[in-house]
Amino acid sequence: MRKISLLLFAAITLLFASCAAPRTFVPRKGDEIVVAGQLFHTGTKIVTWMDPGGYDAYRVERRFVPYEQSSWAETIKAKPEFGAPNRYGLRFAKLSPEEIERVRGGGWDLPLLQRTVDQFVIHYDVCGIAKQCFNILHDHRDLSVHFMLDLDGTIYQTLDLKERAYHATISNHRSIGIEIANMGAYGPNDTKTLDTWYQRDANGKPVIQIPEKLGDPLIHTKNFVGRPARDEPVRGVIQGQELVQYDLTPQQYAALIKLTAALCTVFPQIKADYPRDTAGKEIPHKLPDDQLANYQGVLGHYHVQTNKTDPGPAFDWEKLIKGVRKLIGGASEAVGAKPSSAK
Ligand SMILES: [Zn+2]
Repeated sequence: MRKISLLLFAAITLLFASCAAPRTFVPRKGDEIVVAGQLFHTGTKIVTWMDPGGYDAYRVERRFVPYEQSSWAETIKAKPEFGAPNRYGLRFAKLSPEEIERVRGGGWDLPLLQRTVDQFVIHYDVCGIAKQCFNILHDHRDLSVHFMLDLDGTIYQTLDLKERAYHATISNHRSIGIEIANMGAYGPNDTKTLDTWYQRDANGKPVIQIPEKLGDPLIHTKNFVGRPARDEPVRGVIQGQELVQYDLTPQQYAALIKLTAALCTVFPQIKADYPRDTAGKEIPHKLPDDQLANYQGVLGHYHVQTNKTDPGPAFDWEKLIKGVRKLIGGASEAVGAKPSSAK
């Protein structure tokens, strides 16, 4: 009898312990990405669309016009070319009719999304800062992207990865996209923009100068001074054009490596690699259609479309992928995209 009442007591205690107490606050670390409603740690700073200072691609209002002019009704007057209030769609390409019915209400599950997503597309934004990137995409061009990577390495997530963002045409259904804050690549005789953005300090080192016309740049790190990872602009040939570009900041590479490692872990079909030729060298142009159709991994916008040159000749593919493989192989506790409930 005594034994039974002890067991009963233990059972009741367990029952109460397993019920979450009301008003319990579950803090986030600030490094989580949102994937089909679940949180995954990345080991680098992520500001989601739900956080203060975030960029919310679910809102139909324009973000940077005066509030009274921002509604969808006012937006289509100013932008009649905008197709619909939302700047994203459903990833329906690989789904059966039954699966489409299931997810059109919003209810993606992780295995279905893992089956759908197999590419991570890298862009530069030609806006220079994430704030201006969101302004151009959301308010002016009726486009969207899952992530924006600012100069200081802060990553903004604007949508759940279940959404089909509008960033890379035929790869939208199967890909995740990131816009990296960088002024882009130019012909060797057309470096006026680069000369404005990259000025030389007293030691002759380049320092990023954000033009005043962009207003408060809203860089997350206070008093951040941005410098390219390499002092001289990098020359290279993309899509058959000779181009010049300054490299990303070291903070951007560090953050991108961690995010990419997390994505390659959460989405096993995204291989930690970039498009290479038979000699193992990076392919600096659009992939042939059949090769693109079969490609699963990290790639540039110029691998998808002939009319694009981003992420440009300065983008260091080897540095990214080496860094990612080191993290994935190392099975570190700090990174590697463990569900946030796992300690
Ligand atoms: Zn692009």
